[in-house]
Amino acid sequence: MRHPDRPNEMPTFLDERTPGSATPRARRPLRQRTPLRVRPRDPKSPGPRRPFGSRLRSHIGYQVLVVLLVIAVPLVIVARLHDAPPPIRVLLNDKPVLVSTKTTFGALVRQRKLHATDGRLLDVQGKVLNPHADPGKITLNGDPAKRTLLLHPGDRIEVHDGKDKTEPTVTKRTMLPGRNPGNPQYTLETGKVQQITTEGKVSGEIVSTRYVTKGSSRTPPAVALTFDDGPWPGSTLRILSVLEKMHVKATFFVIGNLAARYPDMVRREEHAGMTIANHSWDHPNSPPFDTLPARRIDNEMSMTNEELRKLGVHPELFRPPGGSVDDNEVAIARQNGLRVVNWDVDPRDWAPDATPASITKAVLSGIRPGSIVDLHDGGGDQSATIKALPDIIRGIRKRGLQLVAL
Ligand SMILES: [Zn+2]
Repeated sequence: MRHPDRPNEMPTFLDERTPGSATPRARRPLRQRTPLRVRPRDPKSPGPRRPFGSRLRSHIGYQVLVVLLVIAVPLVIVARLHDAPPPIRVLLNDKPVLVSTKTTFGALVRQRKLHATDGRLLDVQGKVLNPHADPGKITLNGDPAKRTLLLHPGDRIEVHDGKDKTEPTVTKRTMLPGRNPGNPQYTLETGKVQQITTEGKVSGEIVSTRYVTKGSSRTPPAVALTFDDGPWPGSTLRILSVLEKMHVKATFFVIGNLAARYPDMVRREEHAGMTIANHSWDHPNSPPFDTLPARRIDNEMSMTNEELRKLGVHPELFRPPGGSVDDNEVAIARQNGLRVVNWDVDPRDWAPDATPASITKAVLSGIRPGSIVDLHDGGGDQSATIKALPDIIRGIRKRGLQLVAL
């Protein structure tokens, strides 16, 4: 069948018709393969050439066949197309698509690689509790259907992905035994404290913890001095020396990575009977500490706890960098065995323009019974704080208030 299509045949034919052309053409072997040749040449005796008329008739027949085929083939194709049943129109996710008849629901799903994703049940921290909580489905006319069903014109096929859901939460209220300080704590006041915890109903993971003081509070006739951002070479030991000389117990909120660098200073604080507490690992200032991801907040607390434990210290208090706190952070602190402690008196001893006089004045004018004072032994040059310290201690004692560690 391919033979008549060869465009090279025509020149060969014309050449050969030329009288006196005895040279066999290069393309001759091709022509010899034609099934149309009525009388093949006898290979043994080339003999005389067939009469010109016979050859002409043979070639005319061949040309007619070519023409017929050229016309017939497209006609056959068109006829077959015409005979094939027309495709049907269905709606796939509200868009019309054409499929051949006898297409099954399952075949369409396979052809179009349709897939419905399952919705997950997540816990309050975003962990997956059940990956298939809301199974995705592919529907035929609104319902799940057998994959062997034949599709009909107008059928609606829809892919419905399942939806992710977060577990519901429950709120639990418990009264803590005895009297307790607040959490976050700002003063030394104690009272009956109710703990309000919101947690995942399925996972039990805590979302937030709040403490509410009920009834009357008690305030001791005392003030707590607290020192942040150490241990710090050149400052911490000098502050310790003043405190020891004046028989004052105070609280040091240490930064984890500095405790790892200067463990001897932490040991000195411990040896001097000071309370050592957790002030994060890195002291991240910006963005605000309570807006950091829960995992980061947890790491800041737990790494510092771990470092201090290596030194034999078991911290129970946490002061967030910048005092930045919310209910979620309180919950994370609680899970790390820590209570959050801030302050109610801030003399801004870290400010570049702070002087011993300004610091002393700010403390003594700010305190009342139960106050917690925020000072710094680290983070920069704290010589003004060190110079102010004896006057601060004397001033507080003059008011009849004790100096206590937390
Ligand atoms: Zn700090």
